[in-house]
Amino acid sequence: MKTIRSYVAGGWAEGAGKAQTLVNPATEEPVAEVAAGPVDWGRVVAHARTRGGEALRALTFGERGQLVKALSKLIHAHRDELIALAIANGGNTRGDAKFDIDGAAGTLAAYGEVGINLGKVKFLVDGEAAQLTRSVRFVGQHIAVPRQGVAVHINAFNFPAWGMMEKAAVALLAGVPVITKPATSTALVAARMMELVVEAKILPEGALSFVAGGVGDLLSHLEGQDVLAFTGSSDTAQMLRGQKDVVAQSVRVNVEADSLNAAVLGRDLARDSEGYALFVADVLRDMTQKAGQKCTAIRRVLVPDDMVEAVREDLSERLGAVKIGDPAREEVGMGPVATKKQQEDVRAGIARLREEADSVFGGDGSVAEAIGVPKGKGFFVSPVLLQLRDGKTATRVHAHEVFGPVSTIIPYSGEAKDAVDLVARGGGGLVSSVYSDDRRFLGEMAFGLAPHHGRLFLGSSKLAGHAVGPGTVLPQLVHGGPGRAGGGEELGSLRGLAFYLQRTAIAGDKPILEALFGNKPDDAA
Ligand code: NAP
Repeated sequence: MKTIRSYVAGGWAEGAGKAQTLVNPATEEPVAEVAAGPVDWGRVVAHARTRGGEALRALTFGERGQLVKALSKLIHAHRDELIALAIANGGNTRGDAKFDIDGAAGTLAAYGEVGINLGKVKFLVDGEAAQLTRSVRFVGQHIAVPRQGVAVHINAFNFPAWGMMEKAAVALLAGVPVITKPATSTALVAARMMELVVEAKILPEGALSFVAGGVGDLLSHLEGQDVLAFTGSSDTAQMLRGQKDVVAQSVRVNVEADSLNAAVLGRDLARDSEGYALFVADVLRDMTQKAGQKCTAIRRVLVPDDMVEAVREDLSERLGAVKIGDPAREEVGMGPVATKKQQEDVRAGIARLREEADSVFGGDGSVAEAIGVPKGKGFFVSPVLLQLRDGKTATRVHAHEVFGPVSTIIPYSGEAKDAVDLVARGGGGLVSSVYSDDRRFLGEMAFGLAPHHGRLFLGSSKLAGHAVGPGTVLPQLVHGGPGRAGGGEELGSLRGLAFYLQRTAIAGDKPILEALFGNKPDDAA
């Protein structure tokens, strides 16, 4: 069986601790094992900071863009192999696996282009110079330079490929070396990607390190130039961002956590309209893609009172056609959730939501028979569609993220104000979507929801066939959200670089500042 190793301080390191077995969540057969520690984390951080950091900072943004682009090509060249691993270890259908792996390659490609377009510069000029007093000589200019530390990336189990590479793309482009840690249960894809990166010798030594298993006392070695980017549950986030050394050293922290993403149906959309069909398709995709284990998946479905019956019928009919089973089989539309623990958590979450909602499809989530799987095996959960009994008083649906194929219909009046109020009860989200052709309604919703979200998706009839759904995170747009969603922000083209750069205001004599930081990228290197 394959043993997943760490790649740290310029070499592969196999842990000597108790091994954790990774399984195929459809069959429960072992696929790999991970043995963590002991690792000298102080040495690992120092090696990345000096070897990796110095090598990356010696390059221009354009040169780093070329490296990031080469990583994209590498992942794409091994697409089929990685898809097979995602199916075996992640419970992914082929479509789910492509979403993850193509998402990784696509984000790397997009950031490669961002870097190449920045060209021969080693720092960024931020905005125009400003005259600071009555004297025209005294001006101030903001610039942004790479931080001289490491970026520790800790990722969630649901996107082992995209999670690792969307973060690495931005940090490497910014000139900051990365120490990346995938979630252990689905680490096989990330581990193979790391092997490919090492074999291909694309990156300078120390630019990318890989941690298999636990991180030991790694975080206690972080200092003021380092950053920590975490994706996962709110509980883990809270614990990590509160670590003594992280707080004491003012380590910059970005958190991507839970989110109770909503889809709001406008009352103007007739059942036979394209906008309505788009809404149904997006809810269905988000419930079943990756068995609902997407941080951006629609959890709350707001439907005007008089349209609830139609929506319930249409979603139930479509959910009834989804074939559940071993995702390695072509006919299967939804695989298992990733782990036994995940299955238990989802079942418990459904039970909790049923205290205030009726199950209108999927009962308690049990699956009597999964296609191509020995009876009793696999971590399967049926898609479950719930409907709130009382939309006004319910609380659990706005507070508890069930990380599986589960969504809840929330009846509402059809008024924008009421919909905004209900969605805002989620306490801050990654993304919500609104479906309507009524521009006034869309406007009220957009301005009402914007303070509570990192991203909004406005789905109108004419957009049908032209857009990816709200669940797709795109490198051009920011990803993250306030409150419950972690308060973080990633991606968004150039915006994503800010986390890894130090913005510095420089005040001085205008001709000197113009000579040093003039907006002529090719001379500034
Ligand atoms: P999790 O249990 O919080 O784990 C996330 C990561 O933290 C894993 O790599 C885990 O490693 C690591 N970790 C756990 N304890 C740690 C510790 N004491 N020190 C250092 N690292 C530690 O979350 P998950 O179950 O993987 O992911 C599901 C959650 O992630 C959901 O709530 C979902 O909403 C959220 N999520 C959010 C986004 C987003 O972009 N906002 C994206 C995806 C998922 P081990 O696996 O080795 O324990």
